[in-house]
Amino acid sequence: MKIAIDIDDTIFPTTREFIKYHNKKYKTNKKLKDCTTLHANHLFNLDFDTYLERWMDFIKSDFHKKLTPYPFSVKIIKKLSLENELYIVTARNKRSKKITNDLITNVFGENFFKKIIHLNYEDFTIDQKHEVCLKYNIKMIIDDSLETCLACGKEKINCFLFNYKNKYNWNIYNKKNKYITKIDSWKDPKFLNI
Ligand SMILES: [Mg+2]
Repeated sequence: MKIAIDIDDTIFPTTREFIKYHNKKYKTNKKLKDCTTLHANHLFNLDFDTYLERWMDFIKSDFHKKLTPYPFSVKIIKKLSLENELYIVTARNKRSKKITNDLITNVFGENFFKKIIHLNYEDFTIDQKHEVCLKYNIKMIIDDSLETCLACGKEKINCFLFNYKNKYNWNIYNKKNKYITKIDSWKDPKFLNI
């Protein structure tokens, strides 16, 4: 089976680190729990272009370099790779290709994933991950974005909606949806059923 995996806030605690970076550099005082929408531009009241420039500076910073994967993520992803074809599907734009590739390669080694697909959003108004999944015939996605999971669910793609230790206030979802399975860590036994 082909499986898509998101990077930010799914494999790595990126928003947590971005907030730390932003607080230090711009003297803000936000916490992860304050982030109630997927995109941190709202958290800091920034227009999208300003946010994107700050984000690009962040990924060049030591905060980004020091990102370490969530516990058990690497182990489970390596296990999944034995019987599945894995894709990274990320909303990170193409300007971040090299830095993103280095981040992934440092943890998983060269060419571990079949492909790293960047959506290259100019803004965050259109969600295209479900289209990527359809194009590549991907049947499952692991992602922290509720919007992505709802769009993928409509296409009958099974979703693991990731909310680490249930601390993400941007993807709380309590409805019944047979395509969406909530997980709160990579240790979740539901991964064993894939
Ligand atoms: Mg994400």
